[in-house]
Amino acid sequence: MSTGQLRDSHGRVMRDLRISITDRCNFRCLYCLPETEEAANFYRSRFDAVRNPRPFSLQPIQYDWKPRDRLLTYEEIERMVRISVSLGVDKIRITGGEPLLRKGVPELIGRVSAIPGVRDLAMTTNGFLFARHATALRAAGLQRISFSMDSLDPVNFKKMTGREGQAEVVAAIALARELGFKPVKVNAVVIRGLNDHELEALAEFARERELTLRFIEFMPLDSGHAWQRDLVVSGREILERLLARFDLTPIDPSGNPAETARRHAFADGRGELGIIAPVTEPFCGHCNRLRLTADGRIRTCLFSLQEHDLMPLLRGDATDAEIAARLVSIVQGKEAGHRIGQADFVQPARTMSCIGG
Ligand code: SAM
Ligand code: SF4
Repeated sequence: MSTGQLRDSHGRVMRDLRISITDRCNFRCLYCLPETEEAANFYRSRFDAVRNPRPFSLQPIQYDWKPRDRLLTYEEIERMVRISVSLGVDKIRITGGEPLLRKGVPELIGRVSAIPGVRDLAMTTNGFLFARHATALRAAGLQRISFSMDSLDPVNFKKMTGREGQAEVVAAIALARELGFKPVKVNAVVIRGLNDHELEALAEFARERELTLRFIEFMPLDSGHAWQRDLVVSGREILERLLARFDLTPIDPSGNPAETARRHAFADGRGELGIIAPVTEPFCGHCNRLRLTADGRIRTCLFSLQEHDLMPLLRGDATDAEIAARLVSIVQGKEAGHRIGQADFVQPARTMSCIGG
């Protein structure tokens, strides 16, 4: 096993590769890929004369999906994982867009799980299509799964995701537990005025079902570029609310220095809560993550303004050693941290659905 050759100029060593396998999605989350211009501007009135003198359009936004031949094939993804593992990566997360929209995902999971050195293989999904693939994913070697569910109220769920499907996601979570995925995680992005009234209900849901729930601060990665600081419910506020309601014990983070969540256990030992606060409490100093987009570009930060296109190497005649050398050199230039809140912050053009959350 490699000792970790993906070391950046700040001394951080990359161990975690997140791979987006498609930019497409069957949901239209307001904070990611909103259905309409009006949905993207969910917090403004329809006729906001100051910022926008015209009404926001109700027409579906036409997204520019990548043509399929521009997406990495499963062979190319497998090759990238092998090369990354040879450089010290040991954690792989398959994400998207919605990864379960891509045909034959269990085949990809099988290929990746068979690579010696992949210690941890996980997937992030909205869960809507999980039931039809669940057994095959498990059999193929998927170890962990994270579902995104921001609301327990079907009406609010539809408002936030643009789709009806809350019952399917709840059923998917139950199925994942039955199949032995451990832990089963649920991610909820918290947005002021939209779902912050559901914090306690979501936490109770996690406790009752022994889930690992992560509350995530809303980040400026929405395709509508409508993010505003006022909409972020800070990690601190979330924690205060939860402590007022539940008996929680902090979990010692020293076992995993790259941990992004501030974790808390319920006093009765059932389930776990975590708060991920990249906006108000950045954890860039111990970030060990790299991202590979569905079209073969490496991003060294969620908020990178520069991407490194590996397609010409992958589809040219580059050897594994040449691609490895390129990765090593890309990682050296990893940003010290994101600039949210700084005067010079620029939101990346690509959204979470392309980057892979
Ligand atoms: N479609 C899958 C899903 O929703 O789980 C996987 C991809 S999605 C981009 C990955 C994660 O990014 C989800 O948990 C989602 O809630 C989160 N996400 C998307 N946009 C976000 C934003 N603007 N701020 C914070 N989290 C965001
Ligand atoms: Fe799709 Fe996930 Fe983005 Fe929602 S957060 S629109 S489910 S990619």
